[in-house]
Amino acid sequence: MAEDSIFSKIVRGELPCYKLYEDDKTLAFLDINPSAPGHCLVIPKDQYANIDDAPAETLSAMIATVQKVGAAVKKAVGAPAYNLLCNNGKEAGQIVFHVHFHIIPRKPGDGIRFGFKHENMDEAGFQDMQARITKEMAG
Ligand code: AMP
Repeated sequence: MAEDSIFSKIVRGELPCYKLYEDDKTLAFLDINPSAPGHCLVIPKDQYANIDDAPAETLSAMIATVQKVGAAVKKAVGAPAYNLLCNNGKEAGQIVFHVHFHIIPRKPGDGIRFGFKHENMDEAGFQDMQARITKEMAG
């Protein structure tokens, strides 16, 4: 049994949160260290470390909650868009090992940058990558 995450304590009401929405499977609340006003998190009530561990039906319930909460956040803060972000694993920046989606409202000129870099890849490189990944999925 995995150690309790800080988010599991929030689910059980042992720690406070600024709750936005809940249903039987998911909870949404404001991120305590927001990147933008309205930045919030959507979590499953059951604890799974990351996307790879979570059942597809749990992720599906999370996305349904993202749709509801994301639409409300956009209206509430007057943002035309939001980024949906999941830091999936330590090297991807995950700090809380209870799978969650960040909803980060975006406005023109808000100055938020996620810092993508770009790899140069030639035709052979794309074909090799395609072959390696599809081979893994074939099992
Ligand atoms: P990450 O695991 O890197 O995707 O990010 C975890 C996020 O959880 C960060 O943005 C934190 O600000 C947020 N966070 C951590 N503890 C709390 C809390 N008690 N209430 C709300 N947000 C939190």
